[in-house]
Amino acid sequence: MNEYDSEKLGDILKNNLDFIPSDDPKIADLLVLNTCSIREKAQEKVFSELGRWKKIKEKNPDTLIAVGGCVASQEGEQIKLRSPQVDIVFGPQTIHRLPKMIKDIRSQKKTSVDISFPEIEKFDYIPNSKKKFPSAYVTIMEGCSKYCTFCVVPYTRGEEVSRRLDDIIYEVNHLAELGTKEIILLGQNVNAYNSYTTNNQKADFATLVRHISYIEGIKRIRHTTSHPIDCSESFIKEHTNPILADNLHLPVQSGSDVILAKMKRKHSILEYKNIIKKIRALRPGISITSDFIVGYPNETDYDFEQTMNLVNEIEFDDAYSFIYSKRPGTPASSEYDNISDQIKKNRLHVLQSRIKDLSYNYLEKMINTNQQILVEGSSARNNRELFGRTYNNKIVNFDGSADLIGKMIDIKITDLRSKTLRGKL
Ligand code: SAH
Repeated sequence: MNEYDSEKLGDILKNNLDFIPSDDPKIADLLVLNTCSIREKAQEKVFSELGRWKKIKEKNPDTLIAVGGCVASQEGEQIKLRSPQVDIVFGPQTIHRLPKMIKDIRSQKKTSVDISFPEIEKFDYIPNSKKKFPSAYVTIMEGCSKYCTFCVVPYTRGEEVSRRLDDIIYEVNHLAELGTKEIILLGQNVNAYNSYTTNNQKADFATLVRHISYIEGIKRIRHTTSHPIDCSESFIKEHTNPILADNLHLPVQSGSDVILAKMKRKHSILEYKNIIKKIRALRPGISITSDFIVGYPNETDYDFEQTMNLVNEIEFDDAYSFIYSKRPGTPASSEYDNISDQIKKNRLHVLQSRIKDLSYNYLEKMINTNQQILVEGSSARNNRELFGRTYNNKIVNFDGSADLIGKMIDIKITDLRSKTLRGKL
């Protein structure tokens, strides 16, 4: 979502102030940092970057420094106390106000902070994208109303708000006209999408997917992230719609009912397993991926064992996993914790090596199969080599000419090299 917001921020600055992006911070008029505060590490990176930018500003005092995103939202004025070189602080919901804030500073030389949550107002100010992407992000909802005990999102992005269905359709139509083949629907909980059609009928996630699937040129829909408690019957049933890619990313965080209850996830492991069972019945072989937090305060060996049992039972084909990180203002942050850092690191290692094996096994089974991929671009290492993504969201590298970028092509998977699939046209 930060990538999407940054892209839109660029469009807003270009449209309103004629700013163009530069690769060199030393010659920039404006330096913008779009930040993340989901874990402490991401937050700390903000202050080290600001330290580097301070030196640039010392040489070019007219350079403006703006900090946006969730760290800005969480820290507000505090950012300027810790880093006085910062001129502007804006939140994830006020990116569209940045041009005015810049103008104000330039004319009145006053510093400004705006981290309010003016609902979904920003989307009315975001210009249409002009760039052509084979695969494009579209935000459908923002914020979170779940208040899990470990998570900072409801406090930094605000509660769940869904964009109107017709606004989303308009944006997707425009992208389709530019040649986009795949849409990635974004939201903190996409399956909590809850809005209205133009004739004021209720529209949930399944309705939205169906509407998008009627748009000519759109071949695939991905989405991230879903929440288990929003896996309604209509969401599950929509998996019979072939336009939905063959991957479900469904964060579970822990395999222990005790930990889930402490986290206030509002579902049990049995309920989670039932969702996966239903989805797999509709889509055999679907890629199922997840997120895990290890070392939540007072997580016992037994709790962790339950996580490993769940991993082995579901056989996730990939996952993001993290050591629990204390976030300011969240209920869990004040909990006493008797688990040492070393134990947490060991658990993370055990979990990640198992996921790595499962991921390898899943990819290995794809060797010698034919897959349809959407070619997204040239690979980072070698520009004669292209990469694309399969229907089940796995990257494939292959040799081919650049005119294939943006096309859906058939490829035979030939082997697996350092965790990445290789294929042949
Ligand atoms: N809203 C969805 C998806 C969240 S994605 C859900 O709650 O399921 C963000 C991921 O970051 C989470 O799934 C979680 O695994 C991780 N995360 C969030 N807060 C964290 C924290 N305090 N410490 C470690 N990981 C965290």
